[in-house]
Amino acid sequence: MLDKVVIANRGEIALRILRACKELGIKTVAVYSEADRDQKHVFLSDESVCIGPAASLDSYLNIPAVISAAEVTDAVAIHPGYGFLSENADFAERVEQSGFTFIGPKAETIRLMGDKVSAINAMKKAGIPCVPGSDGHLGEDPDTLLKMAKDIGYPVMIKAAGGGGGRGMRVVHSEASLLKSISLTRSEAASAFGNDMLYMEKYLEQPRHVEIQVLADEHNNVIYLGERDCSMQRRHQKVIEEAPAPGLDESTRKKIGERCANACKAISYRGAGTFEFLYENGEFYFIEMNTRVQVEHPVTEMITGIDIVKEQLRIANGEPLSYKQKDIKIKGHAVECRINAEDPESFLPSPGTIEHYHPPGGPGIRVDTHVYQGYKVPPYYDSMIGKLIAHAETRELALSRLSMALSEIVIDGISTNIPLHQKLVQDPAFASGGIDIHYLENKLGLK
Ligand code: ADP
Repeated sequence: MLDKVVIANRGEIALRILRACKELGIKTVAVYSEADRDQKHVFLSDESVCIGPAASLDSYLNIPAVISAAEVTDAVAIHPGYGFLSENADFAERVEQSGFTFIGPKAETIRLMGDKVSAINAMKKAGIPCVPGSDGHLGEDPDTLLKMAKDIGYPVMIKAAGGGGGRGMRVVHSEASLLKSISLTRSEAASAFGNDMLYMEKYLEQPRHVEIQVLADEHNNVIYLGERDCSMQRRHQKVIEEAPAPGLDESTRKKIGERCANACKAISYRGAGTFEFLYENGEFYFIEMNTRVQVEHPVTEMITGIDIVKEQLRIANGEPLSYKQKDIKIKGHAVECRINAEDPESFLPSPGTIEHYHPPGGPGIRVDTHVYQGYKVPPYYDSMIGKLIAHAETRELALSRLSMALSEIVIDGISTNIPLHQKLVQDPAFASGGIDIHYLENKLGLK
């Protein structure tokens, strides 16, 4: 097994990776910024290295600093978690060139999937259904653009090829605003992602977000672990996720799962990955692939009993997958709430000290968080401070457990979105299953 792994991340995912390493007997190195000295995983790791000041650009995104931490501690591999450098192909390449194992796909795969246009083209070739849209990056010629949008049919969506985190997208409802929207999105994409390449897609009006989790090893074995429904979104960002997707039957799951597994073989995929789809009127439309572990991976772990992070570590060690497709059985239902340090109404971040913390518990409850009483949530990073997951034999019972857990949990001293979650898990439309991606914003009166 890998001897020692650098955890190139922070927060709950760093702790999650640390736990998986410990279970496999792998030594751990935490890397942290000056603002993160009191992170739980820093206390629990075998070694730790401060890699720079609070600003992510100077620490968690500082490639030489992260690689040096691996060098000085004699680590053999680097786990990037999600966010930060996890989908940075140059980082993966430099990790490998420096003689370490990157726990994820090959750099060329990350690069292929990192540009959404090349990802869509590769997926079309591999037989994955995609959203109708432009054939490649958008050019400058106004007449061509106008004709393209007309052929696709309004409304259309202008998207940044290098976009992520729900940013770099604009809906266009009519010809009158097309060219202006394209030039606005182009300049936003250039400043946000350093890449002004755009593409155009049909804007789907009532889809659900359904994604397929896959695991692939270096020996050409690929399995799919069913799907997750992440339709409860605000500003294209997931708020609640669940598995399986309400109402999706076994034959549909098998059909799309097998296609994803075959696509992985076609691109020699390695590691954990997620195919994200919009799902409307019984059809799947690919939007992008995430080449890393996702925030919402626990709901899949709960219903399959498979530890996705441990599988990532085994795959990186060159081992074949521990499971075959026929071993994958879905048991019950799991729902996850993302707990953010933010005002539940204005959504403004709420950093500060956690004065009191009482975690919930009971059968089927899992809490993935790095916070503790007295922990100070720094203002520099993403506001997510943890995830609350409920698992039960049925969706109804999972929601009832989640609701109970949300009423038990106490996080005082800062504001959190727990009051919002309390409302959402009892919302009648959500409770009946199958809401679309616009439901939450409509409910909040944001549309
Ligand atoms: P990101 O990489 O920023 O997460 P995605 O391409 O995965 O971007 O899209 C994020 C979300 O944006 C989707 O889950 C969906 O809610 C919305 N979205 C993306 N493409 C479309 C589309 N063609 N039609 C309608 N909604 C879309």
